[in-house]
Amino acid sequence: MLRLDEVTVRFGDRTALDAVGLDVAERETVCVLGPSGSGKSTLLRVVAGLQRADSGRVLLSGRDQAGVPPHKRGVGLMFQDHQLFPQRDVGGNVAFGLRMHGMGRSAARARVAELLALVGLPGAERRAVTTLSGGEQQRVALARALAPRPRLLMLDEPLGQLDRSLRERLVVELRGLFHRLGTTVLAVTHDQGEAFALADRVVVMRDGRVAQTGTPLAVWQRPASEFVARFLGFDN
Ligand code: ATP
Ligand code: MG
Repeated sequence: MLRLDEVTVRFGDRTALDAVGLDVAERETVCVLGPSGSGKSTLLRVVAGLQRADSGRVLLSGRDQAGVPPHKRGVGLMFQDHQLFPQRDVGGNVAFGLRMHGMGRSAARARVAELLALVGLPGAERRAVTTLSGGEQQRVALARALAPRPRLLMLDEPLGQLDRSLRERLVVELRGLFHRLGTTVLAVTHDQGEAFALADRVVVMRDGRVAQTGTPLAVWQRPASEFVARFLGFDN
């Protein structure tokens, strides 16, 4: 459903993505792993249409996305720092994309209620986002990203700011949720454990290139290079 074909992105003399190729199948959950600066967020931004590629193609369901604006791509993106609107309540945050897509007020209200129940925050519509815990805020951000029913959901470090025990719990919940909804997911993390728990397939990036891709088990058992092995922590 998603294909990247030799996608290159440069910032000055820095190559953030270097001829990256990637395929994500319908309903698949793919996790992108890699050190800081390896191009993970840039990859998501290119797919979302927030960053232009210098060369190469991004295809969604077989259609070249060149010139297609972000809101017409049918993808949801949850940012690294989740960026909730502090001046809006929980319901207002989740409804944001729906109203933008022209959904009426009462339909949006019903959809928000459904989503909040889905992420385990039923009835939280009127709460101020500033009174939520970190984990609750991430759930709201997830509900907001899911709201317009994206055909592809992209998550940039979705659990990044949470402590380990909460992360482990949420990973299990997320995996169940994605399977129930049948959502195709492309998620970035630099936590190997998270990637391995969540992903049908992992993509390991290094310096803007794909160092290896495969099932978590295959990558774990047969790392393609010393870099991948080291990144997975085999030498410590
Ligand atoms: P992290 O794990 O720290 O989030 P990342 O893998 O997401 O890292 P990217 O944000 O994709 O990395 O950045 C890849 C490279 O491109 C980095 O060297 C970064 O400094 C550079 N870069 C990203 N965005 C820009 C920009 N808007 N202008 C200039 N350089 C950029
Ligand atoms: Mg990043």
